[in-house]
Amino acid sequence: MSIQIFERIFNQCVDRDEPFSFQILLDELNQLTPEKTEKLLVPYTSDEMTLIKIAKESLIRNFCMNPAIKESPKFNTCFLKKFFDFLNNDECSERILAQSLFLLHAGKTECHLLNKYEIELMFINYFEQFDSIEPDFNTNHPIFNDFLSIFKTLIQSLSFTDIIDKTIREIVSSKSNSDVFEYQSLKLIFFNSNFTCLYGFSGKDRIYVNIRPIVEFLKISLGEKEKMTIAKLNFIRLVLHETSHVVLRFKLNDLNLSSPFLDEHIKRGNVYKKVKECGFEAEKKLFKGHIDWKLSSYKKINLDYCLQVLDNILNGLPVDFDIERANVVVIPEENIQSFGFSISFKRQPLFLF
Ligand SMILES: [Zn+2]
Repeated sequence: MSIQIFERIFNQCVDRDEPFSFQILLDELNQLTPEKTEKLLVPYTSDEMTLIKIAKESLIRNFCMNPAIKESPKFNTCFLKKFFDFLNNDECSERILAQSLFLLHAGKTECHLLNKYEIELMFINYFEQFDSIEPDFNTNHPIFNDFLSIFKTLIQSLSFTDIIDKTIREIVSSKSNSDVFEYQSLKLIFFNSNFTCLYGFSGKDRIYVNIRPIVEFLKISLGEKEKMTIAKLNFIRLVLHETSHVVLRFKLNDLNLSSPFLDEHIKRGNVYKKVKECGFEAEKKLFKGHIDWKLSSYKKINLDYCLQVLDNILNGLPVDFDIERANVVVIPEENIQSFGFSISFKRQPLFLF
């Protein structure tokens, strides 16, 4: 129903040559369904076709309810044309599924570290570039084969999946879905896109990894061995981060779930610990903090030590990561924004995506 209302308001705005307002849309949605004051649930158990349908309905509400959009709800209709066409397209494919999930999480972007101008540009970028997300393409760089085999090793490694299970156990209560998540059913989907700062996001039994920042990273002038080690450790961080989101959403049967918005689940007794970012909690368990591997590459990392850590992780051996010994950059918790996906938000280069 949200799609039809969006369509009517959008067409009226085009006819009148007026900007589109998410506030007007939200007011209409609230009038129609006053009982729905929260984000809409997107059941994890939905089949793919239903998932796309529900995700589209829900993502509209996510954008409308985003506090930053509420503050500045008007967008020129020309920036929303692709978004409008997307909502009205009934296609069901891996591509549309990936784009729907991206937009579902993009609508929840928390913007307190950004100024008004940056926020506006960021949302326009989402609306203009989401359709560049393309899962069906050939990655010809050999590193992607390495990543694929690392991924397979990780999801079969008990010491790796234990980190995620432990993180989730600390968040959800025994009232939540008692089914055990089957790590073997998890798929890794590489996608191409115009987003250079978006690392990845998660979906139903899938983690999505953007090849763009990886390809960009491989271009920097750094010794090959160092570059590969950093790329692999960052990939492991990303798999850990995104997989923990998959498992949390599976446990709470809601693909529209994001860690800072667990209030409804707390009320229902499904969650007993409110965390800022579940992916970050998992990262902390392995790396003692959120390591910015890309920034670390500008320093002189302790390559021998990092190689040994990489080796231990891939061989299922315990890792007691020593940040100082590794000589890596840790991002302080207060500088981490809460996203439904893994994105690196640096002030300057971000807005080129
Ligand atoms: Zn996350």
